[in-house]
Amino acid sequence: MAKMYYEKDCDLNYLNGKKIAVIGYGSQGHAHALNLKDSGCEVCVGLREGSKNWAQAEAAGLTVKTVAEAAKWGDIVMMLINDEVQADVYKKDIAPYLEEGNALAFAHGFNIHFKQIVPPAGVDVFMAAPKGPYVSGKGVPCLVAVEQNATGRAYEIALAYIAGIGGARAGIMETTFHDETETDLFGEQTVLCGGVVDLMQCGFETLVEAGYAPENAYFECIHEMKLIIDLINKGGVAAMNYSISDTAEFGEYVSGPRVLPHEETKARMRAVLADIQDGTFAGRWIAENKSRGRTFFNSKRDQLAKHLMEQVGEELRRNMIWGGDKDLDTASN
Ligand code: NAP
Ligand code: MG
Repeated sequence: MAKMYYEKDCDLNYLNGKKIAVIGYGSQGHAHALNLKDSGCEVCVGLREGSKNWAQAEAAGLTVKTVAEAAKWGDIVMMLINDEVQADVYKKDIAPYLEEGNALAFAHGFNIHFKQIVPPAGVDVFMAAPKGPYVSGKGVPCLVAVEQNATGRAYEIALAYIAGIGGARAGIMETTFHDETETDLFGEQTVLCGGVVDLMQCGFETLVEAGYAPENAYFECIHEMKLIIDLINKGGVAAMNYSISDTAEFGEYVSGPRVLPHEETKARMRAVLADIQDGTFAGRWIAENKSRGRTFFNSKRDQLAKHLMEQVGEELRRNMIWGGDKDLDTASN
């Protein structure tokens, strides 16, 4: 079992006198910066010149500097830019300004684990990884990990940082960069993003190809997913089974394993995991960005945007009385 930490285990005083540079102001960056500021920390945001988020961060009352200036200013530098550009930005704008006793922090272990970034020895390297996109109110469960404990205080600082972003309220699990990176990639590929999207798409297509209305297929196989997941999130599968009809529960037992034959699905999942563990996936993603100009990625994105399930969904959500959710965060994983 993993070690868990809560608010009582975190001491915000470890951030006293520490200047925190949050690099990036996207899905994670804005939440970290604003929560740290609310917790009384000294924060600035580091952005590239011309960033569309520069004015937005300033309007939220934050100080904004270029990435290099922020890195120079900060004692703790939190990397919240896209994983695939971190290594280049690190080399150019961050590494030259890291001093002994500083901390370099991450919300995902990709670049440290796959050795795209190799920080100097005198610097603490820790992870404060929220498990999911930022949601207001409750706080998101977080993972904590320390790759390098140069000051001997890296854990205390990491826990204080997580408390500062509100992550101690939901619970902090201790892990390693190795485990966080591999499990995070596995979860999003097989279940959360890859698995779910393909499952919904298969269900939607099966109904439409059998002659049912696409709107009907959208409601059944896509819209209702959230209602079901909310129940599981609240009280486990039992809470969902309690709310659905016995007919639905019987169908779950009869047909779930028919569409997802467990041993076969797990064998395929183990193959995905093996590609993650031996670096095949990471190599493919780095090459997709570096040498292939994202041709595969962009063509898949275009193809999906044209899919009937996305088009029908857009129309239906727009006509819902609340007009759909317009305040979407740019959650990337
Ligand atoms: P995001 O929403 O896509 O935001 C990326 C930010 O990086 C933007 O502010 C963008 O700047 C900036 N940026 C991109 N390229 C840059 C460059 N070349 N130079 C300087 N700044 C650049 O990303 P995110 O989802 O917050 O992800 C950040 C980190 O958090 C990643 O390591 C990710 O794995 C991790 N994470 C994300 C989630 C999640 O749910 N989203 C959860 C846990 C961990 P502009 O403002 O100029 O566009
Ligand atoms: Mg993730």
